[in-house]
Amino acid sequence: MKNLKLFIPGPTHVPNDILQAMGKNQIGHRTPEISNLINDIKKGVQSLLYTKNKILLTSNPATALWEMGIVNSVSKNILHAVNGAFSQKWSKVSSICNYNVEEINYDWGQGIKVDDIDKLLSTGKFDVFAMVHNETSTGVMSNLNEISELLNRKYPDVIWLVDAVSSMAGVKIEVDRLGIDFLLSSTQKAWGLPAGFSLCSVSDKMYRKSINLKNKGYYFDLMTYEKSYSKNQTPTTPSISHLFGLQYILSKIYKEGLENRWKRHLDMSVHTKEWALKHNQNLFSENGYESYTLTCINNNQNWNINNLNKELLQRGFRMDRGYGQLRGKAFRIAHMGNIYQQDLDEYLNNIDDIISNRGRYEV
Ligand code: PLP
Repeated sequence: MKNLKLFIPGPTHVPNDILQAMGKNQIGHRTPEISNLINDIKKGVQSLLYTKNKILLTSNPATALWEMGIVNSVSKNILHAVNGAFSQKWSKVSSICNYNVEEINYDWGQGIKVDDIDKLLSTGKFDVFAMVHNETSTGVMSNLNEISELLNRKYPDVIWLVDAVSSMAGVKIEVDRLGIDFLLSSTQKAWGLPAGFSLCSVSDKMYRKSINLKNKGYYFDLMTYEKSYSKNQTPTTPSISHLFGLQYILSKIYKEGLENRWKRHLDMSVHTKEWALKHNQNLFSENGYESYTLTCINNNQNWNINNLNKELLQRGFRMDRGYGQLRGKAFRIAHMGNIYQQDLDEYLNNIDDIISNRGRYEV
């Protein structure tokens, strides 16, 4: 099978040096070596998230951490902001787990508005607010600063859960300044590692809440992680290869520099937007809520996305054709993790070439 460079919004492109770092010999999960490894990773992630909060490393996809967030925080009702496929799914998980859920619903493509959150939290019914920072299905990034200001000023007891699956490690998120209680991600997006591993930061406020909650099960109960946390280990056998990968990518991230990394992602998003506008396409996401890590483009020009996909596959690229109901109507370009400006240029130049030869390629 041909090696394709991935421009889908997860899993993202993982170059060979990372795969090699992950392919090192396994080590025991109750050894000083793993404690050193985990200690290194925790410190690196704390700096990346500007936080002193605990960092948990878990060998599962991010979907599992949705459940961890809920079981350790909700005692009354949970409010979910729903503005795309992943926020909708998280809300559904809360319902399936038998919590009382209410939703603030937005059309796909819209960002989350602080006044709507205020209106519902002011009823006093909710002790938890959950949202997706970067809706991968629509390329919408909501404004954490505004929401933080509201929650800290008016609702300091509410626990704030944030899914940062496609923004963590690509966008600056200052956890302590913002006051985010639970921030979760998996590794296959802006972290630029293979899928199947997740991490989260957890505030003291959330720990204090969790201690008094019941019916948390075993695997997702924060208390399960306490004993091993102090030893820089995990309660169950972790994916050691992912730990090697995290240590390696963190060293690359600090070599690049955090501010340079945030700027790289922002610059690529601006560049992709300009490219789309140049082609008389426009963005699916609401103005002012454009994601920094992926761009979702309305296919106003009726490009034949299936044919474009076929041509790009021939040239060694895996494109996104639009999430679910958006297939063919709005497609996404991911520019995160191990994608640099020159990779993006190469990809967009290939699309330009195919589009400018439309007769030949039937797009
Ligand atoms: N949340 C968001 C915003 C996502 O984009 C995704 C996956 O694409 C998920 C959650 C689910 O992540 P995982 O597949 O690691 O469970």
